[in-house]
Amino acid sequence: MQEIPIKTQAREDIVDITRQVASAVAESGVKDGVCHLNCLHTTAAITINENADPDVKADLLMALRNLVQDGWPYAHAEGNSPAHVKSSLVGASLAIPISGGRLVLGTWQGIIFCEFDGPRSRRVTVTVVGV
Ligand code: ZN
Repeated sequence: MQEIPIKTQAREDIVDITRQVASAVAESGVKDGVCHLNCLHTTAAITINENADPDVKADLLMALRNLVQDGWPYAHAEGNSPAHVKSSLVGASLAIPISGGRLVLGTWQGIIFCEFDGPRSRRVTVTVVGV
């Protein structure tokens, strides 16, 4: 297992980690298998989405802000409940196929880390399993 360190820059931030994940897959030497990713945090998440137009990332954050609003009567005293809810909506883990030593992703797909309660230092684990 490897870990990818991520330093987020704002309260809400989206960081493309595709290149770091691809490097971890290459280092593993596995040619065919599965790359499993796990986000080790409860106020952040990982997903796959468009890596070309940065407006897609901004729209994702905007839509989540409207789905999970700051002013609701949350019980959690820490004050970051919207971030916890967004984390669960987007998800903590991903499994991506590996073929020929490379991640199998669509042309426009990238692996993105979603920060909902930053800026912070974050970590994503990478577990590569050969078949
Ligand atoms: Zn909390």
